[in-house]
Amino acid sequence: MQRRDFFKQAGVASLALGAGAAGIGTARAAADHQWKLITSWPKNFPMLGTGANRLAELIGELSGGRIQVKVYGAGELVSAFEVFDAVARGTAEMGHSVASYWKGKSEIAQFFAGVPFGMTAQEMNGWLYHGGGLELWTELYARFGLIPFPAGNSEVQMGGWFNKEIKSTADLQGLKMRMPGLGGEVIRRAGGTPVSLPGGELFTALESGVIDATEWASPYIDLASGLHKAARYYYYPGFHEPGTTLEAMVNRAAFEALPADLQAIVRNACKAINQDLLAEQTARNPGALRTLIERHGVLLRAYPDDVIAELKRLTEEVVSESAQKDAFSRKVVASYRKFLQESKEWSRISELAYLQARDQG
Ligand code: CA
Repeated sequence: MQRRDFFKQAGVASLALGAGAAGIGTARAAADHQWKLITSWPKNFPMLGTGANRLAELIGELSGGRIQVKVYGAGELVSAFEVFDAVARGTAEMGHSVASYWKGKSEIAQFFAGVPFGMTAQEMNGWLYHGGGLELWTELYARFGLIPFPAGNSEVQMGGWFNKEIKSTADLQGLKMRMPGLGGEVIRRAGGTPVSLPGGELFTALESGVIDATEWASPYIDLASGLHKAARYYYYPGFHEPGTTLEAMVNRAAFEALPADLQAIVRNACKAINQDLLAEQTARNPGALRTLIERHGVLLRAYPDDVIAELKRLTEEVVSESAQKDAFSRKVVASYRKFLQESKEWSRISELAYLQARDQG
């Protein structure tokens, strides 16, 4: 009911509620377009997998059953890290994943997921929808026959799970830590060994000692993964992922085969899901963190200031080098940096000043 209420409030459900829960079964046979949606997440995993399910349902509802979308968890059709290629070649029409996984395709793609010490969820949405970010992302993915849409955001993530305390950067030396994307490169420069693993494999890797530490996401998602059973210390803040945008990528030929109204439905369903998943995080994270600490005895720790300062310095190196790869990368980094700089100036007297004022006394 909560989900439906959200969409009602968002004003997008009135179109085709009749074709929703009641109609979808009968609409299946009559669908004009049968799409597969492959994901990098375990099937039905909270927020990630269930978010993909909701995206599929919403497209079905809004289109009155003209598009029928079947969701596949990681490993069902293709593995978590094969989503990009599989949608590009048309094995599936749509994928739900995160651009930080596609460094091997294009290093600059990672910027459309997020940057360490970079934009928050709200700033990412500002940049993507109204600051030129999505145009650049679309230009990049066009090279691969894909169209990207923002489709969820994690909020500020947690720093990760460790079995020892991190008191200085010396404690990062030789540490085998799961961390994808630009954050992984920062960890490498800090002396650690970043490992890239899909979310569904983290618990086993950490418990068996294949990795020493891992970041995954937020309290809500981490609790569902059971990571507290494999590590004691839970660090914050997630300097490496301050507001990671999830993506829905669509095969360009499949999208262009849709009439204009169905294209608008796919585009706007993604936009609704982008907001809905962020709202779910905001609603679920506080309770999940309490559960981790109070019921499971997790030890919450903040990264020391000098560790944060060093990681920030290394991030600057990584971002500057990203800008030097080619002309397009330079354009993306310049756009990202300009938006972030202006947003920082504004947020100092808006979000930051307000949050500090709210916390006083
Ligand atoms: Ca993460």
